Amino acid sequence: MAIHYDRSLNKFVVLSEYQQIHFDQEEEQIFEEVKGVTRKEYCEWILKDDVKIKGDLRYIFTPHDKIPTYNDLFKTAYDPLVNAKELYTEMNKIRPFDEKSLMKFVKRYGLPINEFIQERTDTLERLNYTVKEDEIKCFTDMDVIIFNHRLMKFKKCVKLWGDIKENNLNELQQIVEEFGLYIKDDFIGPEKKAIWNKVKDQPLLGIAKAYLSMLLNEGYAGRAATKFIDGYIVPAIIFNDLIEVSYYQLTQTVFNDTKLVECHFCKDLFEPVHAKQHFCTKRMNEKRSSCENTFNQRVKYKNKKEKQQKDKA
Ligand SMILES: [Zn+2]
Repeated sequence: MAIHYDRSLNKFVVLSEYQQIHFDQEEEQIFEEVKGVTRKEYCEWILKDDVKIKGDLRYIFTPHDKIPTYNDLFKTAYDPLVNAKELYTEMNKIRPFDEKSLMKFVKRYGLPINEFIQERTDTLERLNYTVKEDEIKCFTDMDVIIFNHRLMKFKKCVKLWGDIKENNLNELQQIVEEFGLYIKDDFIGPEKKAIWNKVKDQPLLGIAKAYLSMLLNEGYAGRAATKFIDGYIVPAIIFNDLIEVSYYQLTQTVFNDTKLVECHFCKDLFEPVHAKQHFCTKRMNEKRSSCENTFNQRVKYKNKKEKQQKDKA
């Protein structure tokens, strides 16, 4: 039986306002100086694709004067393990460099991370506002490039788990080839090379599972901790950010050998709460699954239109 934590020691806050800063040419230059590579090269390296630069989302932040008082923050904070069991599949729905899907997530769950490539003086001031005591995390600033980098690694794990459970041989073959190439890199340590040598002659599924296990270990999934409640010390977990929460939730899915299902409406993967569930689970603070709702409304609309056309004819 795998260890399972029911509560997080950190609660997360959703702020009422988030503003966006987009890439302009000046920022592009800063990026070049900091990383020593152009953003185009960076994107090609990660996405293996050319991505437009100017106008892309660069930072998301909450202006200092829009951050509520500590007591108000406390009232709205949520425990992702209690209130947002669907958080990791919602994280998986964010498309890298797609502003719309990212903002949709941010408005519901708050900023996923609180990190920067370079420190600008004005953002540094806001960073200090992050409330870390009393188990509450209020993220006010996010560097979208760092987020995209971590998001893509996480999405890769979700996809791999999906392919393993579907026994998707074509995809698994590609993944195994990628694993073989990855291991040849000079930067890869001997322990990872040892994993490859141990499994490389096994069936495809075994190699893919070894690769997934390795990728999951590259992303942090929280730190084990304790909480004192009603005279008992009970297990709890500490998360630095929502990507760590997502990794934790995904590892639970893997431990439980749970199959993710494709939503009838949005075609993304979700974890079914009950058998015969065809649509994404309702999200935090939703009364019903919005995918199911929208799907039903469209069917209704279509039927109505068809009936009207029939009546006319
Ligand atoms: Zn859906």
